[in-house]
Amino acid sequence: MKAAVFEDVDRIVVKQVPDPDLTAGSILVKVEACGLCGSDIRNFHFGLRSGVKNQIMGHEIAGTVVKADDQAVRRFAIGDRVAIAPDVSCGVCDYCRRGWVNLCAVHRMIGTHWPGGFAQFIHLPAEVLGHGMVHRMPEGLSFDEAALSEPASSVLASQERAGLGRGDTVLVFGDGPIGCLHLEVARGRGAARVIVVGLDRLAQVKAFSPDFLIDAASQDPVAEVMKITGGSGADIAISATPVARTQAQAVEAVRKRGTVVLFGGLPKNDPMTALNANVIHYNEITVIGSFSYPASMHEKALRVIREGQIDAKKYFTMTVPLEGIVDGIRAAESGNTLKVLVKPWL
Ligand SMILES: [Zn+2]
Ligand SMILES: [Zn+2]
Repeated sequence: MKAAVFEDVDRIVVKQVPDPDLTAGSILVKVEACGLCGSDIRNFHFGLRSGVKNQIMGHEIAGTVVKADDQAVRRFAIGDRVAIAPDVSCGVCDYCRRGWVNLCAVHRMIGTHWPGGFAQFIHLPAEVLGHGMVHRMPEGLSFDEAALSEPASSVLASQERAGLGRGDTVLVFGDGPIGCLHLEVARGRGAARVIVVGLDRLAQVKAFSPDFLIDAASQDPVAEVMKITGGSGADIAISATPVARTQAQAVEAVRKRGTVVLFGGLPKNDPMTALNANVIHYNEITVIGSFSYPASMHEKALRVIREGQIDAKKYFTMTVPLEGIVDGIRAAESGNTLKVLVKPWL
């Protein structure tokens, strides 16, 4: 099969690799579509976790089951259309036993610990089927739309964790695909208004019709939010950028007893941030982290996309074959495209 192999930092080579063989309880999926994630771009430049090399990246996957070992056939039949998300938990650590599988002590991922979706086929061993996230796609959903279920899952999980609900004024920092997902998911949960703070991709966010759009390059986000909310601040502020400043602004822009969600991580080599502790203290603000999601959230994301709360078709503004992944990375980095979809059979 043809695969895009991440050989080393800043080097992806498209080449023929041996077709994966079935093992006990495993399936083989023909990859129809695989989204390019911000973390793929980070890994391309900085390397995979624990120095893994010669790996096939890609973890926002949709495709068709083409082979299944006898033991796997009970769950999946040849011809099943499936969506695949990357996280695989161990099932036995303290966190898994509490049901917090996203916080698993030995959390592993497709595209890092197992070959991912930037290839014509992906092999899913029994361990991945048992403790990972492979779900049948709802009827009527296209492969392209299903590929958005992975990033949508983490957005759904974080808003649930934040208790975002009907009537809320929601502030989203970030004008990338994740910011747009937060906007749509907040609407779906009944938010009264969504304010988005962006920087260089404002035109792309406009396509999702935020109630208010703040340009961080020329406006002070905190002052603008106070104007919009009559001086009280947003109910919930979500920082969906890799930038420490937006985390600090989120704390200043929520109302008393508001909630701040640190959704986007900061760069590994510079993770420190300064938040106004007195604002948190006197205003009784809750600051929460949010990372990944359980399998139930991936199933929910597929349903939410199917129901149209998330308009998946609007996200993939560039489609490339395996040979076009590096071009896709450059386009995503330059802000010329919202999200890139890789189609290994193009
Ligand atoms: Zn992703
Ligand atoms: Zn575990």
